[in-house]
Amino acid sequence: MRYIAAPWRADYVRRGPTTKRCIFCEALKNGDDRAAAVVWRGRHNFILLNRFPYTPGHLMISPKRHLADFAKAGVAERNELAELIQRALRILGRAYGPQGFNAGMNLGASAGAGVTGHYHLHIVPRWAGDSNFMPLVGGTRVFIEDLDTTYQKLRPLFDQERRRRERAGRATRRATTPSR
Ligand SMILES: [Zn+2]
Repeated sequence: MRYIAAPWRADYVRRGPTTKRCIFCEALKNGDDRAAAVVWRGRHNFILLNRFPYTPGHLMISPKRHLADFAKAGVAERNELAELIQRALRILGRAYGPQGFNAGMNLGASAGAGVTGHYHLHIVPRWAGDSNFMPLVGGTRVFIEDLDTTYQKLRPLFDQERRRRERAGRATRRATTPSR
């Protein structure tokens, strides 16, 4: 049986049980976004590349605060998460043109979470047949793309989005500022 519906389980299998350090808090503290593979820093959440991608463009969206239980996320945190899911899907669609996506969370070790202390939502671009090769190559990924190549592809698209939003924000402020 293959866990096609939850491909990020492979991440857990390869790395083994949880480690002490929190990779999300470490990425957030890292001042070098490229080294930390962070493509977006929002107000409450951030987006980073998965270092063991199931397919190229495998992203994770995570809250800035160290929080294990998504049920305890605040309104602003979860609203921004929904917005970032849309943004990530849009950008991955433009960058990779996948035929589909998996988007979801593993909450708790028994659910397959590699990092249990800090919840994160995986977004995995999918293509028909992308998992069929796995038995043939002994678990090695079919689509290989260097992490830095993925970063160089996606970061400019997120930056474009940020500039577009900033321009829209300025236009809105101008439009709502009363003039004499
Ligand atoms: Zn953390």
